[in-house]
Amino acid sequence: MSTATPMKKPDWIKVRLPSDPVFWSTKGLVSDLRLHTVCEEAQCPNRWECWSQGTATFMIAGDRCTRACGFCAVKTAKPFALEDDEPERVAEATRRMKLGHVVITAVARDDVADGGAEHFARTIEAVRAGNPGIVIEILVPDFNGKDEAIQTVMEARPHIFNHNLETVERLTPLVRSRAQYQRSLEVLSKAKAMACGRVATKSGIMLGLGEEEEEIFKAMDDLRKHEVTVLTLGQYLRPSLKHLPVVDYIHPDVFARYKTVAEEKGFRHVASGPLVRSSYHAADFRPELDLGD
Ligand code: SF4
Repeated sequence: MSTATPMKKPDWIKVRLPSDPVFWSTKGLVSDLRLHTVCEEAQCPNRWECWSQGTATFMIAGDRCTRACGFCAVKTAKPFALEDDEPERVAEATRRMKLGHVVITAVARDDVADGGAEHFARTIEAVRAGNPGIVIEILVPDFNGKDEAIQTVMEARPHIFNHNLETVERLTPLVRSRAQYQRSLEVLSKAKAMACGRVATKSGIMLGLGEEEEEIFKAMDDLRKHEVTVLTLGQYLRPSLKHLPVVDYIHPDVFARYKTVAEEKGFRHVASGPLVRSSYHAADFRPELDLGD
């Protein structure tokens, strides 16, 4: 992996510093309930903004991932056992934060037979029971494409099922070495089919890893062929010199053009911009619009 001097960040990659008391109360609550967030673990550049607005994305099943993707700041290590009371703690945090829309993700747990699917399902059920009317969005690993694991999660009835392609087909082996582009597409279409269409499916792609424009458009087409209707496009930022280098910083105007292209391809909701992440302003998308309720 390259350790060359990092490219200078352009002016449009601006990260705010914490100043709002809500930021600190969000931080305190996450810590009191012994929860992990992808906001912190993945060094998300928006955490000051999101946490100051009283929202966060919970990361369940521990803070140790069994994979070692070249872009991701979450640590790779042998995970600890799943914690039985974690679903209730996520539900309690959601209740205390008064969230109307919660995003829950997890590390990849290739060390357990179902990839952590049952733990995901229990968390969805606990959050729904403790927070009536809430919109539940999950951002899942690929569960190695196992139907039973996807079925387990879908039986808990999330409103939005998100699984990120992360990058274009050609770069997938470099960026997500244990994942497969086609398998990820199939995970998305299987989830939709298992819910008989009663779920919104969502995916995201990071830009700036060396992908060509035609490859981005092909990934959009592939997602649409697999019935995905919500798309996020954001700039890849290198967490450390051990991670993949940034090849390009994509100008905000280009992100705006990609949003138009994606909408023309039939995506119902597109978030596209340098600091967009899977869960950034997630509540702006109302799945009932997608599901026709
Ligand atoms: S964009 Fe998502 S991961 Fe980043 S701080 Fe906001 S909620 Fe957390």
